[in-house]
Amino acid sequence: MVERETGLKATVLNDSTAAAFGEWKIRYPRYSSLAMLTVVTGLGGGLFLDRRLLIGARGEAAELGQIILHPDGRNCDCGKKGCAEQYISLTVAHKEIESLLGISVSRRDLIEGYVQGKSEFVKIMRAIARELSLIVDLVFLAVDPEIAVIGGGVSEFGNGFLSEVRKELDSLSSSSLYETNNVVVTGLENNVGIIGATLYSMGIEKMRIR
Ligand SMILES: [Zn+2]
Repeated sequence: MVERETGLKATVLNDSTAAAFGEWKIRYPRYSSLAMLTVVTGLGGGLFLDRRLLIGARGEAAELGQIILHPDGRNCDCGKKGCAEQYISLTVAHKEIESLLGISVSRRDLIEGYVQGKSEFVKIMRAIARELSLIVDLVFLAVDPEIAVIGGGVSEFGNGFLSEVRKELDSLSSSSLYETNNVVVTGLENNVGIIGATLYSMGIEKMRIR
């Protein structure tokens, strides 16, 4: 429809897949593979494998947020129960802190509370880091990327959050070949998805031939 209306060639990518491409192109161009996990209002994933963006047969590759993490767990908007994004998202962080403190908090409050080490905030983000580490481990076991990049709003929580994820991965990665420092937090702003989508659409023909 976009092509018909504008006369321009359109490419459709989900935002996390676009972010994976942006991260690879801008920060890790020498790597042959990269997994992106974006934690914002939900949990998204994008995979760049063997120097190609993985789109999937239905454009649904790396829908990490919809993997069931807790069978019969929390209700998800998709109709299933226990999906990962019901445990790993900033929406969850907001919901939990608000029910704990009985007040509404902004994103800034959430970040500041965590960075300042306030116990309620740390406890909630630690629980999210634990759940996220399970998905990170699953991604390494499934597709063995050189690096996994955590992006989205959660990256604003600084190195403390990354350390929590790595600490949880310590025991999980010990039986695998990847190391906890193969997991990083994005250094790019939240618009990496837009940048990635633009770069991808510019180079898409070349990518297909390669
Ligand atoms: Zn779901």
